[in-house]
Amino acid sequence: MLTVEDILADGGSVSRRLEGYESRQPQLDMANAVARAIADKRHLVVEAGTGVGKSLGYMVPAILSLEANQSATSESETKRRIVVSTNTISLQEQLVNKDLPLLNSVIPLEFSAVLAKGRGNYVSLRRLADARKNAGLLFSSEGEASQLDPINAWSGETADGSRSDLPVRVLPQVWDEIRSDTSNCLGRKCPRHSDCFYYSARQRLQNADILVVNHALFFTDLALRRLGVNLLPDYQCVILDEAHTVADVASDHLGLGVTMGQIDFTLSRLYNNRSNKGLLVVHDLGDAQKLVVKCTLAANEFFGDIQGWVERTAGNANRKSNTYRVNKPGIVANRLSKLMNQLADRVALAAEDIKSPAAKQNLVSASDRLTALSGSIEQWRKQEIEDCVYWVESSFRRSGKQHIGLMAAPVDVGPLIRENLFDKVDSVIMASATIAVGESSFDFFRNRVGLTRGDNLKLGSPFNYQEQAELIVVHGMANPSTNRDVHERQCIDAIRHYVDRTDGNAFVLFTSYEFLKRAERDLRSWMIERDYGIFSQASGVARSQLLDQFKESPRSVLFGTASFWQGVDVQGDSLQNVIITKLPFSVPDQPLLQARLDSIRESGGNPFNEYQLPEAVIKFKQGFGRLIRSKSDSGIVVVLDPRIRTKPYGRVFISSLPKCKVVQEPLPS
Ligand code: SF4
Repeated sequence: MLTVEDILADGGSVSRRLEGYESRQPQLDMANAVARAIADKRHLVVEAGTGVGKSLGYMVPAILSLEANQSATSESETKRRIVVSTNTISLQEQLVNKDLPLLNSVIPLEFSAVLAKGRGNYVSLRRLADARKNAGLLFSSEGEASQLDPINAWSGETADGSRSDLPVRVLPQVWDEIRSDTSNCLGRKCPRHSDCFYYSARQRLQNADILVVNHALFFTDLALRRLGVNLLPDYQCVILDEAHTVADVASDHLGLGVTMGQIDFTLSRLYNNRSNKGLLVVHDLGDAQKLVVKCTLAANEFFGDIQGWVERTAGNANRKSNTYRVNKPGIVANRLSKLMNQLADRVALAAEDIKSPAAKQNLVSASDRLTALSGSIEQWRKQEIEDCVYWVESSFRRSGKQHIGLMAAPVDVGPLIRENLFDKVDSVIMASATIAVGESSFDFFRNRVGLTRGDNLKLGSPFNYQEQAELIVVHGMANPSTNRDVHERQCIDAIRHYVDRTDGNAFVLFTSYEFLKRAERDLRSWMIERDYGIFSQASGVARSQLLDQFKESPRSVLFGTASFWQGVDVQGDSLQNVIITKLPFSVPDQPLLQARLDSIRESGGNPFNEYQLPEAVIKFKQGFGRLIRSKSDSGIVVVLDPRIRTKPYGRVFISSLPKCKVVQEPLPS
């Protein structure tokens, strides 16, 4: 029987294949712990510091555990399936394009691995043909209809029929009309079933030993399993990488969300009053078209009432976050759901008279969608889902269009994850570089995801932080929570000083977008004078583009907020300095966070110690972790928040970091 040492130790198959590969003890420890957890059907949480090589650390034992599949003769016998879920596309790409092909070539076991995508990512050949046939009546503009011919040509050549393979950017209203959709599928009765992209992908999933998915798809599947439906085939083991994001992603998918845009989109796809186009025009359903007009008016009235409620409530809510907590059911009346149900019934009735199965299904699907949306609105309005917090999102998009969202999410997602995942699956492995708080407490993470059983493992980084990194704590700074203006002015001076120290090559991390913009404005002319490159999140340039430009431009400084604190990898001299302007405590201005803190308080706990502090420590670790990405990286992390030194909790931040040199310096004059 093969062991992880055979593959990962010095002289093992991976090192024989990869030039320069050195086995790492933490990686071997991780691989052995994962192998034991899978064999013993236990859950495991692993914090593996930067450089451990955690993807191989879990992938090798996962593949070896499939050895039993080699002798399985039928699906029902012992065939095991493993799901590997990540939060980011970049990690999925690394697994699918790099790690899995490598392991397939060095591990003498037959296994198949497939990247799973949500159903809506695949084009439906039957719907595409229908859309082309009725394009003149379905689409409001020439631009929309003109996309169909190139898509049709592509559908004859593409290998997997998924949207990411499309060479053109398809308009959302066009894709909605041609994508594969559960409620608008004829299944085996479909004339295109034999060459259907979605069903081929599904077959590949059924046959695969390893499914690579993203957290969004994984938790959508988990939420649907509660209703007896599943998108993914059954599995016995799950590996959740980037596990620090799991609770938030689960919360997004186990709640509720209906937007004004969704209602508008659904109604106008049925009948667009201005252009006289839509599905109901295709079927010449004049009375249903009139109902759409009534629904549109009712939707305007309903969301207008919601906006009125927002404006009346805005005095006590946080305008900055554009979110308004709804503490009681029935804040507005709802004529809309009733009318949408009438429309759904009318469309379903029309479907009964139609002979063509495809045309019938188009109408049945439209009817189902109306019923689901009207149900969600009423569920939200009456606050029917228990243990959730409800809120309204209200803002204006850059385009000037108003956005109103009716949202609900579980206050505590832990019990739901426990009941639907930990209690149902043999072994769940959760890995991340940032899970533990302080020396080695996993409590915050475990509480958030609802894990009450299984083991923890903390593995340090193989990098020599004592030699490679220096943490500089600046004293003499004002407290940002009580003296914000002075702190911000001092930060500007300190940023100048420390950017000069490493001749640029720095990230400046902020917790507030407003302060980022002010700092960039105040420092811009000074930076231009000194010929530093300036890259800022406030420029509106996409994160990946900003990063690529930063990496290619020596002596540059990047100003970033939340998304730059984590998941950003800059190796080499381009990044030698990470300046942290403020400890990343969340401001409790979001209804969900407020509700979580209230719930801890109500049960006699301390919201700061139990939630805000550990959450901030994990974000701080992520920010610190941007500096050292390889064995040859070195540099400084500068903290401009005095609370890390003056408050008792400050030491939790420092003790959570890898052991490195800590120096105190006075505020530069
Ligand atoms: S089987 Fe379903 S998804 Fe596939 S082409 Fe037919 S209708 Fe579309």
